[in-house]
Amino acid sequence: MPINLFAPVTSISGIGPKTEAILNKTGIKTIRDLLYYLPRTYENYATTTKLSEIKPGKVIVRGKISDLKTSHTRRRNLTITEGVIRDESDAIRVIWFNQPYRAKQFDKNKDYYFTGSYDLSHGKYQLTSPSAQLASDIENNTIGGNRYRPIYPVRGAFKSEGFKKIFETLRADFADIPDLLPYSESSAIFTKPGTRAEALFKAHFAENDAEAKAAREYLAYEELFELILAANLNKKENQKLKSESVAFAPDRIKEITGSLKFKLTNAQRLATYEILKDLEKDVPMNRLLQGDVGSGKTIVAGLSAYEVIKAGHQVALLAPTAILASQHAESLSSLLEPFGVKVALLVGSTKHKSELKKKIRKGEIDFVIGTHALLTDDTEFSSLTLCIIDEQHRFGVNQRQKLLEKTVKNTGIAPHLLMMTATPIPRSLQLAIFGDLEVSTLNELPKGRQPVLTKVIREIDFTDTLYPEVRNYLAKKQQVYWICKKITESGQSDAVSVKKQTEKLQKVFQKERIAFLHGRMKPDEKDAIMERFAKGEIDILVSTTVVEVGVNVPNANLMVIMDADGYGLAQLHQLRGRVGRGQDLAKCFLVTGNDEPSRRLKELEKSNDGFYLAEVDLKLRGPGEIYGSLQHGALNLQFASLTDSRLIVAASRDARKFTDVFAKTPNQLEKYPELSSCIKQYQQLTTLN
Ligand code: ADP
Ligand code: MG
Repeated sequence: MPINLFAPVTSISGIGPKTEAILNKTGIKTIRDLLYYLPRTYENYATTTKLSEIKPGKVIVRGKISDLKTSHTRRRNLTITEGVIRDESDAIRVIWFNQPYRAKQFDKNKDYYFTGSYDLSHGKYQLTSPSAQLASDIENNTIGGNRYRPIYPVRGAFKSEGFKKIFETLRADFADIPDLLPYSESSAIFTKPGTRAEALFKAHFAENDAEAKAAREYLAYEELFELILAANLNKKENQKLKSESVAFAPDRIKEITGSLKFKLTNAQRLATYEILKDLEKDVPMNRLLQGDVGSGKTIVAGLSAYEVIKAGHQVALLAPTAILASQHAESLSSLLEPFGVKVALLVGSTKHKSELKKKIRKGEIDFVIGTHALLTDDTEFSSLTLCIIDEQHRFGVNQRQKLLEKTVKNTGIAPHLLMMTATPIPRSLQLAIFGDLEVSTLNELPKGRQPVLTKVIREIDFTDTLYPEVRNYLAKKQQVYWICKKITESGQSDAVSVKKQTEKLQKVFQKERIAFLHGRMKPDEKDAIMERFAKGEIDILVSTTVVEVGVNVPNANLMVIMDADGYGLAQLHQLRGRVGRGQDLAKCFLVTGNDEPSRRLKELEKSNDGFYLAEVDLKLRGPGEIYGSLQHGALNLQFASLTDSRLIVAASRDARKFTDVFAKTPNQLEKYPELSSCIKQYQQLTTLN
């Protein structure tokens, strides 16, 4: 008998109301929820590394620990517990940050397994913050009969061991897990790797890396299949919607371009043309405008808006931060107001909001630029025809949807949608994942842009190299960004914090105006600081990556990124894009603790091309991590990677076949409640509409 995946967890013998209550609290209600609660990782205690053969990287070692001592650092206020691990072959250093209990945890006569990363830090090789397990616990534990052990994410009162026990009681039932689609259908259609029953069994009871990998591959496939199917179905739905057709009038666009101090790049002209052609249609545009930082996306948005406004409609532009919204409002109103366009800014701190909203409702404002503040229900438009979303990956689905609903609610007509992003998405993925999305690419920068001179530097060279450079820029009355990984000191990592760095810089540069910025400050506090920085009232801004998003301060020409190894390539490039926005030569210093800079940092020294760097990033980090923000912000993929093109091809082929088969007989999807509920979640995402 196939298992009913939607039955409550209590239908498993061995799970009573008490366990159920704990599981429910962690969001696990049905058997399906439970089966898909997968190991975070696996630890392979069968293959430990002999200390005499240890190499940098992730390791498991087995040995005794001694010489434990705990100290405090004054500079960063950390507790450090250090010791020595020995086996028959050799000894290594071990270190924990802010885990003082480690000093008393161990019996020096017993063997332990230590799992962690063996790396160079502060000039010494050591095992940093490893997890530790008593060797006899592992060796006497016969669960699963092997030393390849799943590690489950801890949820509330439930530790990894708790999950392991539950799955053990279910072991025999795995064979009865049904496939997502009934076998007869799926065998005819699918090229999928294996069955779900096998895959889930292997995920929980893997005996080696290969089995764990095969399990993930199946689950990733299933996820992609659902996602792509959702996109396909959305496209069909989207084509049924109506939107306002805006007549193509290139002469109007020339009025504006003629007023510019510069000529549009060819890429900007092509993108504008593609957008205007879409606007002409009476089905909604769904287009992504992607272009490296500084490629000039704003003006393309402005020209598109102008055409819509001159045809008698309204446009809304949504930006992720107030400072960015007000910069857009400033540059777009100076571009369009001379031609009779009424532009208004609507952010949290906007005064006389209700009057402004009245004007928007009456159609007296043509172009509303704002943050999430413009999403509230009482912001109504008379004829919202184009929605533009800047840095679209910064927004959740719900926020995008709220904006789009503003048109549908009033008129029953869907708006055209233009999304902008500086994080490029490879072509194959655009096609597969955003089946319904058109893409315009700005692949050239405006003429005369100087690349940002980028240098890797170590902290010990600050006094000789970096500080004089900072003084040079400050003497030219130019400003500096100083990026830190963390807000305050904490355990785990020893990266420098905004707080500490600010204090330090205040000592080094006593006369300069230094301020700090981070994500935990209140929105208006953040805006106030950014505003002052933009006005030149702050010389050095110490900040987390919150400045990463599109702000334009052309007078800031130096950036220092502390602990640069802690960021992805694409993110470093995006951050670096905050400088070099004016005429002057800009520099970016990437600070590393390593003697030899990583490949990633070297690539940044070599290249300023975001598309090239995105490809390098893809190769260096492989699947999974690059579209981090995309995956986590918009597409909550648990297993699949948007960069695994082989799986994407297989999944999209299957999804297409499935769509075709069922397109002939409508409402077929309802026969597959599990599939259709999974797809519904994705459908909101992939349509972006
Ligand atoms: P991004 O694509 O990062 O959003 P922006 O739209 O903010 O880039 O443009 C960056 C800067 O380049 C702005 O100051 C803008 O006025 C300027 N710019 C845009 N297009 C051109 C062009 N074709 N030639 C010269 N400068 C341009
Ligand atoms: Mg921008």
